[in-house]
Order: sequence, then structure tokens, then C-alpha cells
Amino acid sequence: MTTRPPSGLFDSDGTIFMGSRRDPSDCRVGLFGVPYDGTTSFRPGTRFGPAAIREVSTGLETYCPQLDLDLDDLDFADLGAVEIPFGNPEPVLTKVKQATEAVLALGLRPLMLGGEHSISSGAVEAVAQRHPDLVLVQLDAHADLRDSWLGAHHSHACAMRRCLEILPSQMLFQLAIRSGTREEFHELHESGRLMPGIDALQKALAPLRGKPLYLTVDLDWFDPSVLPGTGTPEPGGYRWSDFANLIQVLQEHHLVAADVVELAPQLDTSGISSVLAAKVTRSLLLLLGSS
Ligand code: MN
Ligand code: MN
Repeated sequence: MTTRPPSGLFDSDGTIFMGSRRDPSDCRVGLFGVPYDGTTSFRPGTRFGPAAIREVSTGLETYCPQLDLDLDDLDFADLGAVEIPFGNPEPVLTKVKQATEAVLALGLRPLMLGGEHSISSGAVEAVAQRHPDLVLVQLDAHADLRDSWLGAHHSHACAMRRCLEILPSQMLFQLAIRSGTREEFHELHESGRLMPGIDALQKALAPLRGKPLYLTVDLDWFDPSVLPGTGTPEPGGYRWSDFANLIQVLQEHHLVAADVVELAPQLDTSGISSVLAAKVTRSLLLLLGSS
């Protein structure tokens, strides 16, 4: 097994996530950023998300009381930013897929920081090739089931539609979606994919224990009062305590990959959105390192 990612995929200049290293040898988890917001329709800025998460990570404790796990006990790498072309999403998604494949080839579990939500299907495709019975759990305010949006097939409003071209419908679980079109909600209910809350998700996932699981966290799942720094904020969302309950549920499962997307740090001058996003990232690092 090679111990370095191929050259030309990652730019490793800049800040590194707290406690990580550049060299992936002997690591369990591979973190990387995708600074892309090319299809963002409302308020751009998620390209600055990965850097902001790394920047504030040094202010966090390494210990997570909910999981009773400590980053100090985990060997993980921060490979830097995927080198992406400007403009259309298709070449970006190709790069994201290649980067995810490279992380998997190093024997690491991928954790991707966005960037806008459209990047997730590139990573999901690479992980699903490795794990054909992959289960996907989406945290999001939005259904993301449009077939195209403002002329873009790979818009962030289409993120889960693209994932449904990779995975069967019954392997996708969409947690507490609260915004979308009438058609999207009709589909959510008809398909049985809409999980009204964490208890329902826990029940639905119980028979799938042991199967490989991918968690995609669109940060607008959180309430705008606790996470205002996102492009399409949606009232009526969740709090840290809800996420803390969720990660305890996921601790019973086999998490093989995850992403954290849609942080637009410059929309929140207080910086608390980036801190919350960094704490979500810490939780996922610990889950990926221990499951
Ligand atoms: Mn989304
Ligand atoms: Mn969303």
C-alpha cells in the first residue's frame, strides 16, 4: 500500500486541523477540504468553510464527553485542500471522487469538509464503489431532491437526487427535512426516507447495524440561532444537544465516511458557526476513528 496520495490532488499549504498531521502513514482517518461554492444560488462563501474550521479547531478541547473519546488517542491526517478547477461543478466532482478514492487507497476513512453540498455525490460515489451496501444518512434543512436548479444538474439543491443515482432509495435516510417543494415532500413521504426525528432514525437504522454508513452533514440542519453562518438558513432547526444525541446513536454503527458542508464563515462575524462546525468535525473524526 502506498503511503502518500498521488501528486496534484491535494494542496497542503495553510492551516492544519488540531492534532492532525500531513503524513497519512499509520493514520485511520483522512480529512480533506473542498473550497467550492460555484453553484451557490443565494449567499456564497462556503469556499472559506474548510479554512475557518481548521482555524478555530485549536480552540477546542480534544476530549468529547458524549463519546468518551479523545482526539489525542487518534492518529489522523489532514491532507489539505483538493485542487479544484474554477467554474462548473462536473470537473470539481471528478476531482472530489479521485481525492476520496486516493484517501480510501491509503487505507483511511474519508472526512470531507465543504464547500457546498453538491460535492457530496462525488465522495459518496467513491465510497459506494468500495462498499456496495452503503447506507447514507443526510442531515439537512433541505430535501435537495431537485433534478436541476438554475440550469445546474449538480447544484447543491440537487445533492441527494445525484446520490440516488448511486444508491438505492431504501439506503438513504433524510433526517427531519423542513424545507422543500411540494413535490419533494410528497416524494419524501412516499419513499419512507423522511425520518421525523432522531428516535425514528435510530429505529430505522437498527436492522442495518454493521453495514457501512456514510453521514453527510449539511450544517443548515442546525437552527440559524446557533449556526447563522450558512448560505440558505432555515428557521426551526436543531441544537448541539440534538447532535450530541445523534452521535451516540451512530456510535452503535459502522461509520466509514462523512462530510461537513455549507459553512459560510464570513456570514457570521461572531465566529460561533465555525466553532460549531469544528466541533461537529471533531465528533466525526472520533466516530470514524473508533467504529
Ligand atoms: Mn443540502
Ligand atoms: Mn441545506
